[in-house]
Amino acid sequence: MKHTLFLFLNMALLAGVIFIGWKQFAHPSYGEVLQGSGWTAKKFGDKYFLSIANRSELVAAVNDFVRAQKLTSGNITGIGAVNAVTLRFFDPQTKQYVDKSFNGQMEITNLSGNISTMDGKEYVHLHITLGDKNYQALAGHLLSADINGAGELFIEALPAARVERSYNPEIGLNFYDFAK
Ligand code: FE
Repeated sequence: MKHTLFLFLNMALLAGVIFIGWKQFAHPSYGEVLQGSGWTAKKFGDKYFLSIANRSELVAAVNDFVRAQKLTSGNITGIGAVNAVTLRFFDPQTKQYVDKSFNGQMEITNLSGNISTMDGKEYVHLHITLGDKNYQALAGHLLSADINGAGELFIEALPAARVERSYNPEIGLNFYDFAK
């Protein structure tokens, strides 16, 4: 009787170990849940679903995520809702940045961007299109966005790729520098 119980417990333990192993490694659909400052993520290979927490600032959260995951290149897309943003417009004539802030509830109808590095540090470049309550669009280079509602991003990383940037003084922008 004692022997049977011992055998049963061992079998149960083995089944548990096999199940956890299968769930973690053999079945990628479960993903790996990650979290950081202002975000949570679910990782599937080199692809991530990234959720920005309500009331968090999106650009800071994305930078924290990229730093935490040590991503050096990739693509970013997303949707969500905000109640304050700061956009930037680059004037090539004057080489000046013109920054402007907007308040009010707006939908992120599109967030697009990329991940590269500059001087070996992560470099996140984001552009955004927002829709207001009158269904009018507002768009530009994104400096900051306060999430008010959801922030649902998808990130596709290329772990083996190194894409560096260099400042181009003639144009006044940080360009991709494939010579690096
Ligand atoms: Fe830009």
